[in-house]
Amino acid sequence: MDIKGDRVRHDKTIRKIVLSIIIIIVTLNTNIFKVRAEVNNNLNMDLNNRLYSNSNNISDNVLDNLMVALTGKVNGYEVMLNEDVIGYTVSESDLDKVKENLIKKYINKNSIREDMVRSAQVKGNINLREERFDIEKLQSNEELVDKIYSLIEMDSQDIKINIKYVKEEVNTIEPSTLIIPTDELYIGESKVEEGEYGVKKVLKEITIESGEITNTRVLNQEIIKEQVSKKIYRGSKNPYEDGVAFLSHPTRGGYMTSGYGERWNSFHKGIDIAGDIGDDVIVALDGEVIYSQFNDGGYGNLIIVKHDDDMSTYYGHLSSFDVKVGDKVKKGNIIGKVGNTGFSTGPHLHFELRINDNPVDPTNYIVQ
Ligand SMILES: [Zn+2]
Repeated sequence: MDIKGDRVRHDKTIRKIVLSIIIIIVTLNTNIFKVRAEVNNNLNMDLNNRLYSNSNNISDNVLDNLMVALTGKVNGYEVMLNEDVIGYTVSESDLDKVKENLIKKYINKNSIREDMVRSAQVKGNINLREERFDIEKLQSNEELVDKIYSLIEMDSQDIKINIKYVKEEVNTIEPSTLIIPTDELYIGESKVEEGEYGVKKVLKEITIESGEITNTRVLNQEIIKEQVSKKIYRGSKNPYEDGVAFLSHPTRGGYMTSGYGERWNSFHKGIDIAGDIGDDVIVALDGEVIYSQFNDGGYGNLIIVKHDDDMSTYYGHLSSFDVKVGDKVKKGNIIGKVGNTGFSTGPHLHFELRINDNPVDPTNYIVQ
């Protein structure tokens, strides 16, 4: 046995083993580093990617926020109406939204149906001017809309909203009036047959600007129910010829103090009715005023009313007139006041009826 040789072999073996272990450890370590490095690389790339994808926003926003925090000022736009600043905004696209909302608000306030709007525009020189301003000035779109709307409501000439829309209305048709002469009734008499309202559907195109309708165009009309004319049958038969009482009393009460005919060597062309100054004088039959002034032939203040078939009535000695020449009057209308003008010995009404300008005795023609 060679103990020395054994030890040497033994030592060699141990060395080999140690070396192997060292190699293994080194190899392992190297690999671990490699893996770590790879992981780190991946992480870095990922972060970089993320940073890059948002790089503009993040860095700008951060910068902006920093600037706002430091200075209290923000980059944005002044909203200009002609040369006046009327608001502030940060986004260029806000202006279109503001205009859109302005129109919506206007449509709502004017109770216009949105689906009936044919065109809508904001008329006025609104522009944006880039500016740096205090952040407190910044408005929401809603505030901006309210601000501009208030200008419109104040009737600003610089800004208006113009809307063209279609509206369907259901309208009534007023009955027309037909006047039908009839000899079944006497002059002064009439009979009325009421008409009926019609109904029509009207389609209109309306243009409204700043609360005022500037144009209306009828697009279509459809009659749903025809109107029925009101018929007034007007008497044409002469009541005087038939001896019918057709005149109403020309005052409220009052007795006759002097009749028609011969009187103290003269001829009284009418009748005198007692009354007080200021009492109402009432027209006796429908007609038209053809004279209303002072008459120096003795009548004093005189009104003459012309009626159908060349009949006329005279009202004399009045204190005042309530009608003028050309007025159309209806039986029962107040035309003047009792007085004491002209050849008169006390307050009374002188009343005449003339047929073809010839005075006749009215007594029997006045309804009692
Ligand atoms: Zn008289």
